[in-house]
Amino acid sequence: MKRHLVWFRTDLRLTHNPALQRALATGDEVVAIHIDCPGQWQQHGLGSRQLAFIQQNLQALAQALQAIDIHLHRLECASFNDIPELMLDFCQQQQIDALFANRETGINELRRDRAVRDAIEAKFSMFEADCIVSPGNLVTGNGEMYKVFTPFRNAWIKYFKEHGYKLLPAPDSDHPPTSGDDGNVDKDSPWPAGEYAAQQRLQQFCREHLLDYKELRDFPALPATSSLSPYLAAGVLSTAQCLQAIEQQLGYLPLSPGEQGFAWFNELIWREFYRHLMVAYPRLSMHQPFKLETRLIKWSQDKSQFQAWCDGQTGYPIIDAAMRCLNQTGWMHNRLRMIVASFLVKDLQIDWRWGEDYFMAQLIDADFASNNGGWQWAASTGADAAPYFRIFNPTVQGERYDKQGEFIRAWVPELASVPDADIHSPQQWLAEQELGHSYPAPIVVHKEAREKTLRMFQSTKNPEVA
Ligand SMILES: Cc1cc2nc3c(=O)[nH]c(=O)nc-3n(C[C@H](O)[C@H](O)[C@H](O)COP(=O)(O)OP(=O)(O)OC[C@H]3O[C@@H](n4cnc5c(N)ncnc54)[C@H](O)[C@@H]3O)c2cc1C
Repeated sequence: MKRHLVWFRTDLRLTHNPALQRALATGDEVVAIHIDCPGQWQQHGLGSRQLAFIQQNLQALAQALQAIDIHLHRLECASFNDIPELMLDFCQQQQIDALFANRETGINELRRDRAVRDAIEAKFSMFEADCIVSPGNLVTGNGEMYKVFTPFRNAWIKYFKEHGYKLLPAPDSDHPPTSGDDGNVDKDSPWPAGEYAAQQRLQQFCREHLLDYKELRDFPALPATSSLSPYLAAGVLSTAQCLQAIEQQLGYLPLSPGEQGFAWFNELIWREFYRHLMVAYPRLSMHQPFKLETRLIKWSQDKSQFQAWCDGQTGYPIIDAAMRCLNQTGWMHNRLRMIVASFLVKDLQIDWRWGEDYFMAQLIDADFASNNGGWQWAASTGADAAPYFRIFNPTVQGERYDKQGEFIRAWVPELASVPDADIHSPQQWLAEQELGHSYPAPIVVHKEAREKTLRMFQSTKNPEVA
């Protein structure tokens, strides 16, 4: 009997795992491996919260694999450069005939996989499990990747209608998964580990919020988005499972913008857009902007303003609440990510890459493609980004999306007693109560900052304006 190896990376699940399924379909013996790479992860800027989450999910995965009689070998090396040799040794020792893995899209990951393919004697087969439509399959008439989301989405939907998708169930085990199978993990965590917990949350979201997502998704005080991102980023859950859950809930898949339930589906396509861009434009993985002319911008290097932003001490309540929520939980609502990113880049004129790195280190759902895409969108340096003159007014954003200040009060305790009418510009009320010292004055005047940013971007088009 032959012996095959399944290499788990950002696909820490049994359900919809084509590499695992194909290895098992051979009918031969299957073993599994995961390789921790602390030095590489540090170089990628991943933070301790996400790394802990990955470790918890690896425990859960090991237990789930055990239930189908597959042992998960846990190995460690410093960087991706060490993996080819490590894999060669492992395959020789274990007498592996074939290696199976699901593709990752990062540039270092793609290079690593090519090096492993060259190094090992066993056949290496790769599968798509991360995206519904594999990067590279959607190109314009000129053979280029789409640079604008809507035509990309149209092409994505057309491709999807032609090819469909097939959800691969988890391999049979003697007992179906329950929460007890997810290892000795912290069940009180906002993101309990394991695919059972992820699937429960997916189903609950679809039952309770899929249909009101479009109306409620922008209000951070409401639990109206799925908060599935940590699971999707670590591959504990796949987008194919999300599509199946939508279909089960609605009885159909909403494939046009007018259909109910489309808004959430649309976000999953955004996720794929950023992955396709990253594969098509390697410079995005090398700290380069998509719009090359924005390299001319001279960003501010003001460390104390950057620190005030990181610490949630800017004097703008919605910014400070959002950043403190991030610092304490590792997660931030999408509307808030857009607002704080806009503030860093367009009110403080600080390099979007500083913000990108800070998010990577803090987020429990850090995902290189989505994070880079989100930052380049907000900074107006990306493909299909916000136009440079679209500059959020942080006070107005707060008034619009957290009208009564419910979210602000939850995260900025100094503002707990400020009345609704003053919550978005509390300084005067605090001064009248002789509480002025408890909360900072705004670190910049938005109107002036806006003008400065407009001049900064215009200078890239007409260098004399600078
Ligand atoms: C500056 C900035 C940085 C971001 N960094 C990350 C990141 O590191 N990791 C990450 O997963 N998302 C990131 N996003 C996208 C988005 O904010 C999060 O995916 C979303 O807030 C996660 O919450 P949710 O699971 O409740 O999302 P839902 O609204 O329930 O959406 C479902 C899923 O769709 C995907 N998704 C939703 N919105 C987007 C989007 N705009 N772009 C790409 N995928 C999306 C996510 O996988 C999400 O879990 C970033 C956005 C911005 C503006």
